[in-house]
Amino acid sequence: MEDCIFCKIANKDIDSELIYEDDEIIAFNDIHPQAKHHVLIVPKKHIPKISDLNENEQDEILVGKMFLIARDIAKERELDGYKLQFNVGESAGQIIFHIHLHLISNG
Ligand code: 5GP
Ligand code: ZN
Repeated sequence: MEDCIFCKIANKDIDSELIYEDDEIIAFNDIHPQAKHHVLIVPKKHIPKISDLNENEQDEILVGKMFLIARDIAKERELDGYKLQFNVGESAGQIIFHIHLHLISNG
């Protein structure tokens, strides 16, 4: 989608510190990390908010995959504990309206 920063990152129009990529999902470091590890797991498909997800198998699998990729990154980094967070809506602190899962940890 035009003017969406995460679509631009997914399309490589904007640089990011890439952590993971497959056909559907990309993961990169947050530009303003809240902890030692702060990775964003992002579908390439433009979905503005979690509340916009469709009730279909495709979106169910997509969101499930986002969690499994976060788990794999945490495992690879041997993180002891970590937070996985979706902010949904402006009042909850969502500033980028293209869904993303935050993986946050101090190790
Ligand atoms: P939200 O508050 O929408 O859940 O989180 C958006 C996150 O995206 C923030 O933590 C913010 O630091 C990060 N962010 C915003 N713009 C960019 C960018 O251009 N590149 C990267 N890597 N992260 C960004
Ligand atoms: Zn987008």
